[in-house]
Amino acid sequence: MINRDELVSYVNKLLKIDIFHDYCPNGLQIEGKPSIQTIVTGVTANLALIEKAIAQPADLMLVHHGLFWKKDPFPIVGLKKARFQKILNADLNVMAYHLPLDSHLELGNNAQLARFLSIKVEGQLIEEPYVWFGEFAEPISAEEFSQRIFEKLGRLPLHIAGTARKIKKLAWCSGGGQSFFEKTLTLGIDCYFSGEISEPTVHIAREAEIHYFAAGHHATERYGVKALGEHLAEKFQLNHYFIDIDNPV
Ligand SMILES: [Zn+2]
Repeated sequence: MINRDELVSYVNKLLKIDIFHDYCPNGLQIEGKPSIQTIVTGVTANLALIEKAIAQPADLMLVHHGLFWKKDPFPIVGLKKARFQKILNADLNVMAYHLPLDSHLELGNNAQLARFLSIKVEGQLIEEPYVWFGEFAEPISAEEFSQRIFEKLGRLPLHIAGTARKIKKLAWCSGGGQSFFEKTLTLGIDCYFSGEISEPTVHIAREAEIHYFAAGHHATERYGVKALGEHLAEKFQLNHYFIDIDNPV
């Protein structure tokens, strides 16, 4: 059992939330009960995850995509009311970490992707630190990489074959990282992968002669919050359950 405020301040410091300019508040988003023994983690604070966290029953729901985004309207009405009502009635704490959880050097989404896909990390782009780059120990074919993504992330990626060559050096960014693709072209990479893809991405991949893999926004962002939950459970002797509410995007 840990005091909620102690846990919040530990995670806020661990993920260095103060250095990020994010589109959402990072940290405690909804205050629930004062003590925490059971944590449910998940990618997004949707109604299905809220219901499962309450049924667990959890004292804390910890997510990557929280309940508040800068461009959202303020009024708590309609679908938003349904989410908030359940959370407040259950006295459930909600914590969310967005960019700080993409970026963390060990627990973050990009770090976890490197670990699962056996990529040796070389660094992050200075101007876009959410973009990581590295290489495989040995070059692998695009088919092998597709298969590896399928085995490790449970998702057969969409592959744009801009080239036929094997993959040694690559860059990646979890989630909606397709917008950074063009900035990686000076790295000399054979491949870029992200969660999502947009229409222009295909042309960039073909013209730059680079493999592009879109492995799913959800599928590439499961592992950061899961790793954070596992870390907290071990450190503070808490119960932790990662709940996957599948999302094909
Ligand atoms: Zn995301």
